[in-house]
Amino acid sequence: MSTLTRTTPSATGDETPERAWHAVTVDQLLAMLATVPGGLSAGEVVARRAAHGPNALPEPPRRHPVLRFLAQFNNTLIYFLLAASVAAWILGHRIDAAVIIAVVTINAIVGYIQEDKAEKALSAIRKMISPRANVWRDGQRTSIPVADLVPGDVVVIEAGDRVPADMRLIRARGMLIDEAMLTGESVAAEKQEAPAAADAPLGDRLCMAYSGTLVVGGQGTGVVVATGRHTEIGRISALIEGVEPLTTPLLRQINRFGQRFTWVAIAAAGLLFAFATLARGYPWPDALIAVVALAVGVVPEGLPAVITITLAIGVQRMAARNAIIRRLPAVETLGATSVICSDKTGTLTRNEMTARRIVTSDHVVMVSGSGYTPVGDLTAQEGDEDVAALEAAASLIRSGLLCNDGHLRQADGQWRVEGDPMEGALVALAMKAGLNPGHVRAEWPRCDEIPFDAQHRFMATRHAAGGGKHAIFVKGAPERLLAMCATQAAVSGGRPLYQAYWTEQIAQAASHGERVLGFAMKSLPAGDGRLSMADLDQGLIFLGIVGFIDPPRDEAIQAIAECRSAGIAVKMITGDHGATAAAIARQLGLMTAPDVVTGADLDKTSDTALAPLAARADVFARTNPEHKLRIVRALQSTGAVVAMTGDGVNDAPALKQADVGIAMGRKGTEAAKEASEMVLLDENFVSIVAAVHEGRTVYDNIRKVIAWTVPTNGGEALTVIAAILFGFTMPMTPTQILWINLILTVTLGLVLAFEPSEPGVMRRPPRAADAPLLSPFLVWRVFFVSALFTAGGLAIFFYALQRGLGVETARTMVVNVIVVFEIFYLFNVRYLHMTSITLRGALGTPAVLIALVAVVVAQFAFTYAPIMHELFDTRPVAIGDGMVVVASGVLLMLVLEVEKIMLRRWRVFGGIEP
Ligand code: ATP
Repeated sequence: MSTLTRTTPSATGDETPERAWHAVTVDQLLAMLATVPGGLSAGEVVARRAAHGPNALPEPPRRHPVLRFLAQFNNTLIYFLLAASVAAWILGHRIDAAVIIAVVTINAIVGYIQEDKAEKALSAIRKMISPRANVWRDGQRTSIPVADLVPGDVVVIEAGDRVPADMRLIRARGMLIDEAMLTGESVAAEKQEAPAAADAPLGDRLCMAYSGTLVVGGQGTGVVVATGRHTEIGRISALIEGVEPLTTPLLRQINRFGQRFTWVAIAAAGLLFAFATLARGYPWPDALIAVVALAVGVVPEGLPAVITITLAIGVQRMAARNAIIRRLPAVETLGATSVICSDKTGTLTRNEMTARRIVTSDHVVMVSGSGYTPVGDLTAQEGDEDVAALEAAASLIRSGLLCNDGHLRQADGQWRVEGDPMEGALVALAMKAGLNPGHVRAEWPRCDEIPFDAQHRFMATRHAAGGGKHAIFVKGAPERLLAMCATQAAVSGGRPLYQAYWTEQIAQAASHGERVLGFAMKSLPAGDGRLSMADLDQGLIFLGIVGFIDPPRDEAIQAIAECRSAGIAVKMITGDHGATAAAIARQLGLMTAPDVVTGADLDKTSDTALAPLAARADVFARTNPEHKLRIVRALQSTGAVVAMTGDGVNDAPALKQADVGIAMGRKGTEAAKEASEMVLLDENFVSIVAAVHEGRTVYDNIRKVIAWTVPTNGGEALTVIAAILFGFTMPMTPTQILWINLILTVTLGLVLAFEPSEPGVMRRPPRAADAPLLSPFLVWRVFFVSALFTAGGLAIFFYALQRGLGVETARTMVVNVIVVFEIFYLFNVRYLHMTSITLRGALGTPAVLIALVAVVVAQFAFTYAPIMHELFDTRPVAIGDGMVVVASGVLLMLVLEVEKIMLRRWRVFGGIEP
């Protein structure tokens, strides 16, 4: 420990001379860092953590809250409004000036609070997928958050991991690390354990792994030598990754639209001002105030904030359903997804493996029991003798235990796997056969291994077998192993491989949906104890196969049916055997096409021929990551919006290529997560469908927000324009227009962001990826409803004047009618695809009801409170007239419901568009 504190930068941050960790031997390293291959003790970890702090780079500082609040005012329209307020003040319209300031300020406060809430929620969600490291501590291998690493920790890294701290490697097997971020070298460095020269540059220190670099191949173990900001990357720059801006293409589109709209509004206001003063003879201060109000009224200044909130709520809802969005645009894309390509194991199946059958060259043994509980019987198939069959299976069972990194642990009476479930099932099988995993593993110590890799589909280990002999055990995809073996085991000596027998046995197990694994072994002299591919070239003896059951997830059956009704194709893309994949696909109701396309078929198919094949087939088996990439591309070439799952480092290109790359939360590598738009915490297919469901809802809600907001502005503007053009008294004063905007922005304007899904959201086809946000139906709606608002406002105005109520009362009624229209229109717009006149429609949601109460209270105050009479020049409205106002709202609702029915009946806008 003393050496350690002397040799690493001190906790106070002074840079002490860098220690050449790359130049020391492994023994020196362990001594200097006072650690052992079995890892640090818990007490030592606490002490080192206190001395060195967390293994994290300082977070980039957030902008100061005051600056973030001021940023809300940084907008052309707001400048314009502030200027208008100054003008109003100078012209003596003090109240107007104050109300404009109030609108701007409240808008900024709402924007600030909501944005802050959204950002905090998103960063909390992002933390849910913060990376973990596999570390040895107290002789046990465990997974801990990367931030908890301390110098001296012994860490296991493998393909797909981001190196979690600066490490000196004590073991490296085929380890390739992409260090481009540090060295600029694009070719991955091949790592080794031997020390480098003390003056070797960073790129030549082959025994080091540096924090933040990516392991692209192999496996290894290293001892942490520097953490946090004392790492190489920490020294270069303390801030690698800034806060992702809260924006999406859609949001940018809307912001651009808003900006353009502002300029158009200002130009139109200028023209109207000229017209009002020159042609209509308005006194210029009055005309100025009127057009300012018009400009304020017409621009939907709250829209971008509400849409940001809608997206953020979508992200939160998805997180609640175990889908973590890493990139915000995915929220939009998910809603347009037309094909989901899913893994099989764990996503569509439960990934709870149980060994069911063992087939050796002469016998078949069935295994009973369920889950990982090591209780069950091994019995020979009918007509066979148990003793002989079990004897034949014994070496296979043992090799399954040794060529294995899995462990079973019992907690709360439940047996659980640590590691790969299939390996856990092999441990359970060994225990059912009476073996003690601890003893057997101690008796056959492992010297070296070739880890499993989805590309070559097998794993091999080399063990000391006693008597100066070594043994190699291999397990993997049976066809692969059969191709590697020359002979098959018999109790006495090897016989030639009987391929047809094995092919039939594999097919039989697979046809039951069993996942089939082959086993092989080889004896050899002790030698140097290393294991390389060349050692597997000759002399491997095939031991047999094991069939595992991995039941389909019941809930996935339902989710696949839901996808079908939602016009989304589901494709299973698995590394497993074709017959196994087909059997599981059938159980899931996923298979509509008769045949399975295998990786070998894909290799024979050109890219052009692949598109129709990929679109037609449902199940792709024995595929590798390159096949996945080709399938995504082929599907995209047909115009599909593709979601694709993946977990390995080699899946990264396919995940990047997919419109929505989906990485697995637990078994997914860092590389896969970084390439993805979304991470599935529970690795369950159902969560993908739930995310698509939420994605569609978000998109619907954004459309609803627009469909509701824009006509308010349109209606107000048209009313003022009509008054100026036709030269009658203004039906609303500028301050009243500002009041409407103010009160609606903070109430009804927000509720559509919180809308739940419409009932039929998964019963319509996906929207076209290139469909414009302002669809023909939406454009029609904006014009139609604006016109209805204008008509309603003017009708009430003239009705009141006719009854001799006085212009102030008439204006109060106009404001009330517009607000009442907004309320009824909100209820209508909540269901764009069906009638709103249902019990569910009438009851609304808590958000709707709260907003409704707020608006009603505000309107009562506006109409009846004496202070408001002074501020807004309003007058009390008689009960009877109030009824007329509410009745007009009901009438508007009826007109819009009839419009929906008509559009559907006449199939206009695709029968109100999907
Ligand atoms: P999916 O893509 O649906 O998750 P998968 O898990 O079967 O399918 P891979 O993990 O690529 O796909 O595995 C492919 C094949 O490799 C398996 O069918 C099996 O035969 C073999 N295999 C899987 N895991 C191991 C392992 N730990 N050791 C040896 N062989 C394995």
